[in-house]
Amino acid sequence: MRCLVVGDLHYALQQYDWVTEVASAFDVVIIAGDHLDLGSLVDRRTQSLVIRKYIDRLQDRTRLIVCSGNHDLDADGSAGERTTKWLLNARSDRVTSDGDSLLVEDTLFTVCPWWDGPIARDAIEAQLVADSTRQRRRWIWVHHAPPDRSPVSWGGSRYFGDAELIPLIEMHRPDIVFSGHVHQSPFTDGGSWVDRIGQTWVFNTGHQFGAPPAHIVFDAEQDTALWFSAAGNQFVRLDEPLQRPVRRLDELPEWLTAEGRPDVRGQA
Ligand SMILES: [Zn+2]
Ligand SMILES: [Zn+2]
Repeated sequence: MRCLVVGDLHYALQQYDWVTEVASAFDVVIIAGDHLDLGSLVDRRTQSLVIRKYIDRLQDRTRLIVCSGNHDLDADGSAGERTTKWLLNARSDRVTSDGDSLLVEDTLFTVCPWWDGPIARDAIEAQLVADSTRQRRRWIWVHHAPPDRSPVSWGGSRYFGDAELIPLIEMHRPDIVFSGHVHQSPFTDGGSWVDRIGQTWVFNTGHQFGAPPAHIVFDAEQDTALWFSAAGNQFVRLDEPLQRPVRRLDELPEWLTAEGRPDVRGQA
């Protein structure tokens, strides 16, 4: 199984175009929140309609996992907490969204919403407890905010992560957490696209402008995660301890360069 992971596309349509173009090379495509851009001149409803079209196109090409980010909230839920109705409405048998899980081969994906208050946060806890009892060989969470006090949530002067995610990771020990949210973490001194909390690998793709977006390719068979960005490409082997500095990716796996495959390498 091969996954493409992006996040924080923030209504950058050339980045959605790129994801759509390469999607069929992957068994699963994950877009880890902040689909919309609150700072855009385009109103939020129009943005969500356009992104819905991309989601519909993507599900024809692969299995899609989308979670909400803080830019995506559009509806008032219980007790005044905001939810992301337009993304929930995009759910189908090919699109897994907030609050759902997906089993692909022996990997269980748990997709968490952005939490805006105690009700949504408690729901995430309950979701993780429920999924912890399910049969799987590997457990992956998709959660827009990265864990706090980690290089993947470092903003250059302080951490911007989710402090409440740390005890959940320590309790349930998922294999992988894919996040986004703190755009500059991978590009700033003291930050990174990858970290470990106990045995759990945590990732933040980071945000860059233009296509392709910064992205991670997770190859389950090879147990590797490759990161592609304008600042260079790096990789980690998930069956080895994390080393810093993280190793540069000098040679691409054969399947990424094979003829007929879309070019998912990012900048040369
Ligand atoms: Zn963002
Ligand atoms: Zn965010």
